[in-house]
Amino acid sequence: MPLQNKHLAVVLQNTYLPFIFEEAEALGIKVTFFYNQEEVEPKHLKNVQNFIPIDLFHTPDKALEIIKAEHHKNPFDGIMTLYEPALEFVSQLTEELNLPGLSPFVISNCRNKQKMREVLKDNDLNTPYFKEVENTEELKNLSLPYPVVVKPSNGFSSQGVSRANNKKELIDSIEKVRRVNEEDLSKFTKNKTGMVIEQFIDGPEFAIETFSVEGEVYVLSIGYKGNSKGPFFEEGVYIAPAQLEENVWQSIAREAARAANALGIEDGPAHIELRLDPAGKPYVIEIGARIGGSGISHYIVKESTGINYMELVFYYVLGLKPPVLKNERKRKRVVGNYIIPVQGYGIFKEIRGLEDVRRDTEVKRVIQFITKGTDILPYPHFSGYPGFILTTHDSYSDCEQYYSYLDNKVKIVYKNKVNA
Ligand code: ADP
Ligand code: CA
Ligand code: CA
Ligand code: CA
Ligand code: CA
Repeated sequence: MPLQNKHLAVVLQNTYLPFIFEEAEALGIKVTFFYNQEEVEPKHLKNVQNFIPIDLFHTPDKALEIIKAEHHKNPFDGIMTLYEPALEFVSQLTEELNLPGLSPFVISNCRNKQKMREVLKDNDLNTPYFKEVENTEELKNLSLPYPVVVKPSNGFSSQGVSRANNKKELIDSIEKVRRVNEEDLSKFTKNKTGMVIEQFIDGPEFAIETFSVEGEVYVLSIGYKGNSKGPFFEEGVYIAPAQLEENVWQSIAREAARAANALGIEDGPAHIELRLDPAGKPYVIEIGARIGGSGISHYIVKESTGINYMELVFYYVLGLKPPVLKNERKRKRVVGNYIIPVQGYGIFKEIRGLEDVRRDTEVKRVIQFITKGTDILPYPHFSGYPGFILTTHDSYSDCEQYYSYLDNKVKIVYKNKVNA
């Protein structure tokens, strides 16, 4: 039990997704949870020893002081986060406290989509046309390979990401992204306001979950993420393992591993999004140097392959050598995360059908994030996911069938509005 009684600091976590806390408890790890002080103290988390509020995005210096002071009183063996906008803060901390973690340089390249593209291109990965702009003035002398996608340079959760099929739509999209940068993201990204225009890669999307050990990238899972054509990119399904011919699996795995290497993810987890173009050529869309989906990727990997992803990550952040891995395609069963579509906007009232769904044998967990009375904005603004339905199945087609059932069964009811 090498992880027993180790002390882990977790910085911000969506407490509806408690995988990180549950796995820590199962392994005997003691957790100090630095939670967002704007939320109520998450006392319901029985597996956390110590709760400390911080206000990371308004007073980051103070948050840093609080965490360092706690470390001196009651030292951590490691610090981690699964929350994309907190990654840079945590890497700064691990560097200052000399704890395991990727360097701020590596993390900032992953957090900025323009820098990420530059690094991938410099390392000869398949790269779509890309160009960072600040405003529509800069479009004057550009000839662009439409359709394109515009996105905030430092965004997350698909906020603002919009497709444009021609110059007129592009000007409109740029205005949308500018507003998302200014209104929705400024709290997280401060003065980092650019946006990136990219060629739209038209083909199926996959999520690749990896774990690196001293520069060796192990591909734990490849899952299917739908084939959205836009104009906005609301998350939909995640089914693993994806149904792929061996050679396609290998080519996706190779490109993903090369991307993790190129960006300097020498150790620890990465969540990589990738699309195949019409010729079947893999293009990395982006990389997150973390377990994806606030822990959903752990569920996907563990249930579909039997590999305890979170445990691997704990070994790494707590400064221990992880168990030996093999680069092989493991399959236990088919698992999925059905992301309940927003289905419009307005004042949220309820999600119909969930009570029945909870009783189905396929369903492992139902997680509802939004609460009655919440204002849900239309895309490309993002007001949070309505909910996740985590399932397991004997076969891929069983999963697909169950998802079509859910498409009809699960309905969101809004007050004061028409479903757009
Ligand atoms: P975020 O960090 O906000 O998740 P992404 O770059 O991952 O931003 O974009 C969100 C989604 O938009 C992707 O999952 C993908 O579906 C779509 N997307 C982004 N860039 C492209 C692209 N170049 N071609 C096709 N789809 C894209
Ligand atoms: Ca380090
Ligand atoms: Ca991202
Ligand atoms: Ca993404
Ligand atoms: Ca996505």
